[in-house]
Amino acid sequence: MGVQVPELQFTSLEEIPERISTARKAFLEHRTRDVEFRLVQLRKFYWAIKDHEEEIAEACALDLNKPRFEVEVAESGWLLNDVVFTTRNLHNWVKDEKAEDMDLAFKFMSPTIRKDPLGCVLVIGAFNFPFQLTLGPVVGAIAAGNTVVIKPSENAPRSAAVMQKICEASLDPSCYHVIQGGVPETQALLAERWDKIFFTGGANVGRIIAKAAAPHLTPVVLELGGINPAIVTKNADPRLVARRMLWAKLLNAGQLCTSQNYLLVDKPLVTDVVEEFKKAYKEFYPQGAKVSPDYSRIVNGTHFQRLKSMLDNTKGKIMMGGTMDEKELYIEPTVVLVDSVDDSMCTQESFGPFIPILPVENLDEAISLANGVQATPLGLYPFGNKADVAKIISSTRSGGVACNDAALHIPTLPFGGVGESGYGAYRGRSSFDVWVHRRPITTSPGWLESILSIRYPPYAGKLATW
Ligand code: NAD
Repeated sequence: MGVQVPELQFTSLEEIPERISTARKAFLEHRTRDVEFRLVQLRKFYWAIKDHEEEIAEACALDLNKPRFEVEVAESGWLLNDVVFTTRNLHNWVKDEKAEDMDLAFKFMSPTIRKDPLGCVLVIGAFNFPFQLTLGPVVGAIAAGNTVVIKPSENAPRSAAVMQKICEASLDPSCYHVIQGGVPETQALLAERWDKIFFTGGANVGRIIAKAAAPHLTPVVLELGGINPAIVTKNADPRLVARRMLWAKLLNAGQLCTSQNYLLVDKPLVTDVVEEFKKAYKEFYPQGAKVSPDYSRIVNGTHFQRLKSMLDNTKGKIMMGGTMDEKELYIEPTVVLVDSVDDSMCTQESFGPFIPILPVENLDEAISLANGVQATPLGLYPFGNKADVAKIISSTRSGGVACNDAALHIPTLPFGGVGESGYGAYRGRSSFDVWVHRRPITTSPGWLESILSIRYPPYAGKLATW
């Protein structure tokens, strides 16, 4: 590729409070209130992303061996589309809303809902889709008129450095700041008061974020992971199941919060589903995933070891794949036949290329098992006929559902978890809504006093005329 990607430099702990106070001051000086100012920022941001597309691709290759196709679809291209969608719609989204039908007297008070920015906000990103998941929420935060402090994940260091370069090349330096670092730097950020914190990552860190926000009553969005089930009924097409489920696990080598964690497959279909996985793997990677340019690597040694011990400890039988190479941080897409939902393959989020299959007697058993592992996963993937899918949806809970598919989330639909997979949602219009305060405004004209006087004491006899 030939482009030079900068090294990640952590921000000094002393500098952090000063940077936050600059961002807060910029908000209090109303610098981001003007919608045209926000649009200029977003347009500059768009061109900076475009200008750095090669560096984005190189950083994703260095951090995750992410294939160029996946970078263009799910990182740079995704962000560019998001900025275009936002800038096209912003004038419409910021418009005051009229209140719904009401009493005549209230109508004269012109009740409206303004979309006010929240203030100075913090975005903390995850490593797996570093650009999309860190800068995606930032697009909405800028559009809504907030000043923003951005903390990319240190686990994708090259991507974090390129994000900083893009932000510093395009955005107003008083309003938007990138802070780099690991746990101590994030803790220093969390010690400050924010007007909203948007966190993408694991549930354990999510709890730390929510706890740190509580003393300041700071609202939080938690975009967490999930132990996402796929339910494959007897009416499903095994080939479709295998191709789509394999795709969801080879994308970023399974380091994808929406990919299925385990499959509950109707017993008579299990052999066919396993065979179709083998066929699909051969079709997608004729020479094997290891030598293919279209397969990512595990982000680092810690995650590699975590995944290795998951596979070492399973009581299941490996039906496909199972090879790994620590030096290369390579783990092959691996299908494992397990005999209990309590197998560690099902009870932990793998965040890797594992496809555990648990045979079930019928749809009712599948639903009951899915509801038992994690009652509220981020995604749920039913495969079957219309009636099966409808039954599954109406007897489960999850952040989202992709019927006869996996991992898929259409970018204009709200995206977020429920219960243990988090709270709050963004994407499309929700990316703007999540960053504004819907502020109700009423104006009581002086001439309305004759009508309003009904509210003043003495109350005697007034109820009858109310
Ligand atoms: P993580 O929770 O380890 O880290 C996320 C962020 O938190 C990073 O920026 C990191 O610096 C910071 N952090 C880590 N430890 C911290 C601590 N002790 N105190 C304060 N900050 C800390 O998550 P990850 O490994 O980057 O991502 C994997 C997890 O994120 C998976 O569970 C996955 O499902 C989830 N995820 C969710 C979504 C979503 O949109 N719902 C998207 C991607 C990933």
